[in-house]
Amino acid sequence: MTFMSTSRCGSRKDGLFGRPGDFSPLNYSSLAGGRVNFPKRGRADCQSFLDSPVQSLKHVGSTTARHLKRLDIETVEDLLYHFPHRYLDLGRIRKISQLREGEEVTVVGVVRQIKRFRSRKGIRVLNIGIYDGTGYLYGVWFNQDFIADRLGEGTTAAFSGKVFFRYSRLQMENPLFEVIDEKTDLGRDTVHTSRIVPLHPATQKLSSARLRRIIKDLVDSCADLPDPLPAHLRTKRDFPPRALSFREIHFPSSEVSCKRARKRFLFEELFLMQLGLAIRKRRLGLDTRGIRHRGSGDLMERFCCLLPFELTSDQRRVIAEIRRDMEAPHPMNRLLQGEVGSGKTVVALVALLIGVQGGYQGAVMAPTEILAEQHFLKMETFLQGLDVNFALLTGGLTASEKGEIQRDIKDGNVDIIVGTHALIQDEVGFKKLGVVVIDEQHRFGVRQRVNLKEKGYSPISSRWTSGQQPDVLVMTATPIPRTLSLTLYGDLDVSIIRELPGGRSLTEHVKTFVCDKDHRRWAYEKIRSEIEQGRQAYIVCPLIEESDKIQTRAVMEEAARLQNEIFPDLRVGFIHGKLRPAEKEEVMQRFRKGSLDILISTTVVEVGIDVPNASVMLVEDAERFGLAQLHQLRGRIGRGQHKSYCILFADPATEEGRARMEAIRRIKDGFQLAEADLEIRGEGQVFGMRQSGLPDLKLAKVVRDVDVLLEARKEAFDIVERDPSLNFPEHRLLLMEVQRKFAANLDWLFHS
Ligand code: ADP
Ligand code: MG
Repeated sequence: MTFMSTSRCGSRKDGLFGRPGDFSPLNYSSLAGGRVNFPKRGRADCQSFLDSPVQSLKHVGSTTARHLKRLDIETVEDLLYHFPHRYLDLGRIRKISQLREGEEVTVVGVVRQIKRFRSRKGIRVLNIGIYDGTGYLYGVWFNQDFIADRLGEGTTAAFSGKVFFRYSRLQMENPLFEVIDEKTDLGRDTVHTSRIVPLHPATQKLSSARLRRIIKDLVDSCADLPDPLPAHLRTKRDFPPRALSFREIHFPSSEVSCKRARKRFLFEELFLMQLGLAIRKRRLGLDTRGIRHRGSGDLMERFCCLLPFELTSDQRRVIAEIRRDMEAPHPMNRLLQGEVGSGKTVVALVALLIGVQGGYQGAVMAPTEILAEQHFLKMETFLQGLDVNFALLTGGLTASEKGEIQRDIKDGNVDIIVGTHALIQDEVGFKKLGVVVIDEQHRFGVRQRVNLKEKGYSPISSRWTSGQQPDVLVMTATPIPRTLSLTLYGDLDVSIIRELPGGRSLTEHVKTFVCDKDHRRWAYEKIRSEIEQGRQAYIVCPLIEESDKIQTRAVMEEAARLQNEIFPDLRVGFIHGKLRPAEKEEVMQRFRKGSLDILISTTVVEVGIDVPNASVMLVEDAERFGLAQLHQLRGRIGRGQHKSYCILFADPATEEGRARMEAIRRIKDGFQLAEADLEIRGEGQVFGMRQSGLPDLKLAKVVRDVDVLLEARKEAFDIVERDPSLNFPEHRLLLMEVQRKFAANLDWLFHS
């Protein structure tokens, strides 16, 4: 929100004054009649009033309704929540004799004379003399003859604008104006002048003045709108009632009360969102019957004994959290965050084994086949010597192989099944599914992430269980800033692994360079010198679409160029999306074993590869990658004890691009980087709130308002703890409000 001081608000550039659109025909005669007394509304009335179409309002016909729709405004409620983005303080009413050049003021006077003429350039000029008993002021309009229709001689009106001294007299150019009479309460009844004037986001077709007119009538008729916020909350936080807040945010009586109103609505929107998340969390968890797993047992013990290393303290803590969840009689819904290589797999295996030792089955879902295969390989190492049957189900299998595995799953011969989402969702019936691990890596990262339901989580619960929902562990390698884990993931419990095995931090000894083309020779020399010291290197080319033929060729051409021209004496291999899984695996295997010096690839290496000997990474066109992705890529090096170098070739064309490159160069910590990303790109981009199923945020910016977010979350979760279905009489309106806010996603909220 900006409060424009009157000394700045009249600049022509921002079009605040004198834009022709601001003077579209208004019904000034209704000015003083704005306070319509509606009968006191009951709860249901209120609901239907808020839900009624904008066309039911005064001044809104079908054309205006169409224009409003462009602003996503369809109902009365939408309009009420269409808040001003700026205000002009035009509340200072002055006598003409006291005016000084350059001031922005409001003058109230009578129209005395009207003159029309053409300037030398052919512009039609309208010149209206205004008299207030102390002197004359002249209002000047260009090419807007119709103004005179509403400002006939003898009309009393308020004029707001910037004062100029021209041709030895006082002028206002294109002033905002408003016809008034003796009944008009200046600053209360006026809409466009003599007050703090709101500027609502407008369109070409629907001016801010027009919106003001419509909204003024609406807020004046809303005086008895009940308040959904429980009274104790309002008192505690000293919030004005909702109806008053609507009036004060749209048509403030003072800057202070406007700020109070904005504070209230900011809290309200975060609070309602958190309330929805609290309800959902409750439904998924406490209110649903889950499996009481046995947290300790023979299998677990043997597994821990056989581990070739000590668990880190983060791993132990997270395992304890998971165990507590799983032993509880409610399903687990937990998000496990930890960068690639932080040891999530072991933790996930513990969760799976807790299920298996009690006679249940476990499922692991990975976003790609490569990742599913890698999980399977890891299981082969970690589950060796344990009496656990596990299987991999991928698209590469023949129909009969698939059929056989599916039968085994159904009969309970397989304890743990690994596969991609699709396979597990579509084909498989379980005998007794108890634990689901969803590995999102970053593929379903924050941006594309929609609610879990769509990602195949609730289909699991509804299809595979009868009353007893499996426990669910979602793993992600993308560091999720706290603000996001409180909103997008706000219905999950969160566990974080920060410390990496061996006590190193991933990018601790990685130095990042952002370079332009001129440094290419230097970069190649760096690669060569590292390889001469026995290290290995990655070269990453951006990939727009994994199936993109041109791109595949680009990688192959680049590989040929590097092999033939730059590194003819070195061993270069490449992988891209077009290779079959087996071929990819073979190349990766060679790189892992050290029989390749350089691995050229598309972003395939992003996930899963662990080659401690690799110490250089060169990324082409780095500005095309997201920050999370670059950070993932960078995590491929510096995994051993060697100092490592990440060289990003970038030519960012935009301010945002430069800011992102600067962030990746400077910030090593994934969480900090994620916060920076949020700030640089703006929440809208990163959030995808719309797709997320969460209500839109109009006033709040979660990074900036994280304190309010935390308070709102606490209040919301407290209320849901006391009254899980919002059944208390004092929560009835609240329930309706939450339902309304989550309208499109009620199913998500209440039924999954
Ligand atoms: P993530 O799944 O989080 O990417 P992994 O579970 O694959 O990470 O672990 C990365 C590597 O670290 C693996 O080789 C794993 O065996 C090893 N590892 C895991 N936990 C520990 C530990 N506590 N101490 C030493 N090495 C570990
Ligand atoms: Mg449980």
